Amino acid sequence: MLEVSDVSVTYGQHRALTDAALTVGRGEIVVILGANGAGKTSLLKAIAGIVGCLPGKSAKLSGRDISELPAHEIVEAGLVLVPEGRGIFADLTVKENLLLGANPKRARDGEAARRGRVLALFPRLGERLGQTVRTMSGGEQQMVAIGRALMSNPDILLLDEPSLGLSPLLVRELFAALRKVREGGVGLLLVEQNAREGLAIADRGYLIENGGIVGSGTATALMSDNAVRRAYLGGIVAKAI
Ligand code: ATP
Repeated sequence: MLEVSDVSVTYGQHRALTDAALTVGRGEIVVILGANGAGKTSLLKAIAGIVGCLPGKSAKLSGRDISELPAHEIVEAGLVLVPEGRGIFADLTVKENLLLGANPKRARDGEAARRGRVLALFPRLGERLGQTVRTMSGGEQQMVAIGRALMSNPDILLLDEPSLGLSPLLVRELFAALRKVREGGVGLLLVEQNAREGLAIADRGYLIENGGIVGSGTATALMSDNAVRRAYLGGIVAKAI
């Protein structure tokens, strides 16, 4: 459903990303793994139209060319990013944040039903509709951010480090919610430092190093790859004798 290729990003003289390419299918969870500074955030921002790319980028969403669209039109086309640090309106309430998420035209029909689904996914938000987001815990704020993104009725959801700063229990709760989101047909592209948990919920993954995609495979294959285990999972598979 999402196909991107030839994504290259520079910041001044610094080349952050070179000719990155990936796909995300309907209802698929795809994880991007890479060290700090490898270019993961730049890749998500480039796909979402938040940072500019060098000429040549190709991005198609369900066959539609979105490569030249500005960020807000990319949201209208059905792709939304939950940025690292969440990008929520901290001084507004949960309810107001969800309402703002439903602002794109594509989200206006069925807004009440969609809000019902978001609150079923994150029941804690339903109990806190009137609470100012700034006063919520990190995990609750992440739920608001994802809930707000889902209110825009996306086909593809990009998530930058959603588990950052959350307790192991909350990470599991969050990832269980992401599994439910995919069951609704949304494709998820996830940047995750927590490689073990990321691969555990993903169908496929990409490895990014020094601004380039250097490997890809099914999550199962990546989990049993010794180089991946050494770099991201803290160990190698014992060889049977
Ligand atoms: P992390 O896991 O640490 O968040 P990342 O893989 O997401 O890293 P990016 O944030 O995409 O990496 O950064 C890739 C490279 O581009 C890094 O060297 C970073 O310092 C540089 N970079 C990112 N944003 C900017 C910017 N606005 N101006 C200058 N350089 C930048």
